[in-house]
Amino acid sequence: MALNNDERATGSGTGIGTTIAGISGLTARTVFGTVAAPPGHAFTLTCDGGLVGPWLGEDEEVDGPFLDAADCILLPGFIDVHIHGSGGADVMDATAESLATISSFLVRHGVTGFYATTVTASRAETLAAVANVARFCSQACSDGGIDSPVGARILGVHLEGPYISGKYPGAQNPAFVRPPSAPEFEELLDAGPVRMITLAPEEEGAGTLIEMALDANVRVVLGHTAATFDEARAAIDTGVSQATHTFNAMTGLHHRQPGTVGAVLSDDRIYAQLIADGIHVHPAAMRILGRCKGPTRAILISDAIRATGMPEGRYDMGRLPVFVQDGACRLEDGTLAGSVLTLDAALRNFMSATGWPLVQAWPTTSLSQAQAMGIDDEVGRISRGARADLTLLDTESRVVATIVGGRLAYLRDHWRLQGTTD
Ligand SMILES: [Zn+2]
Repeated sequence: MALNNDERATGSGTGIGTTIAGISGLTARTVFGTVAAPPGHAFTLTCDGGLVGPWLGEDEEVDGPFLDAADCILLPGFIDVHIHGSGGADVMDATAESLATISSFLVRHGVTGFYATTVTASRAETLAAVANVARFCSQACSDGGIDSPVGARILGVHLEGPYISGKYPGAQNPAFVRPPSAPEFEELLDAGPVRMITLAPEEEGAGTLIEMALDANVRVVLGHTAATFDEARAAIDTGVSQATHTFNAMTGLHHRQPGTVGAVLSDDRIYAQLIADGIHVHPAAMRILGRCKGPTRAILISDAIRATGMPEGRYDMGRLPVFVQDGACRLEDGTLAGSVLTLDAALRNFMSATGWPLVQAWPTTSLSQAQAMGIDDEVGRISRGARADLTLLDTESRVVATIVGGRLAYLRDHWRLQGTTD
């Protein structure tokens, strides 16, 4: 199946483990996401203290270890705003080991930052997952040894539920769907770095919650919602700025009842997340989304679950059994339940569905996310002083190397690393 996630974690390429420290720079052929790269020939970008440094002229050499990627394309590192797990681990496990597993899996697929996404679960389980992210992030800050392995950075928590519509639970466990609760949300905000919440804006009490979220600088995402077109528009008026997996688990587009999908596709104020696996959404619908939203309002997500990068079979999500077969994840009743997609495959699928070349499609894995989350001064672009979170692709848009904060997190071809003393 052409549009499936066709790469498994066990495929070619190896992580570089603990042997490599920071790199001083890299040479690449083409760069997107910047205004400063010299056009038309290979160029060299320096990394300086974890940040993007200056471009070097043709004859200047990098002092220290560098990557020879003269045949590659350099992009801002990928950001996944909606991911539950991978490599056998899930955010809801609420353990440091699980977050470390996800983080080191993701760099193999070009991801340099992600929002750890919860599912609709009990109050205690959700709090535990959020508090675990908080602990993990403070630990990661204090580690920082130059030779320790580096994975994708956790940028915050995305709460998917529990204040969603019982009419559109998708694969969220209906037993835990509940009305918006301000005290509970307050507790979640206190427990850790909550940055996004997916909710159904038409539910009673959602208005208060949206206000609380916006006050706390948390992005509000509509999803798992029965909102009509008018209700969705009203929610966007109040500051809802993203839609969770557009088309899935929301009211659809009918020409007299445009629904939530109609509101998302017709309103430039809202970013549209998309699971571009060819299973959740037909390629023609991906193309429609691309045309309506454009590259800087479309956000590719994985919505990946723990089965990603693992053999097919039986897994779980939110205490429900999930069966993975032929690249699709389903509950017992056939409902789609997350994906085994990776963002690099999503980008290739989206390019194939839209017909967009990489020069047009690249913002859908980095800049759109960074802008939607208000962190585009730090990531999502390659500019001097931004974090050196970078992804190198070959001409087939496959990941060659991933750099997180100026440190090599993944390298497919070892010969590319040069200038090391050992
Ligand atoms: Zn999800």
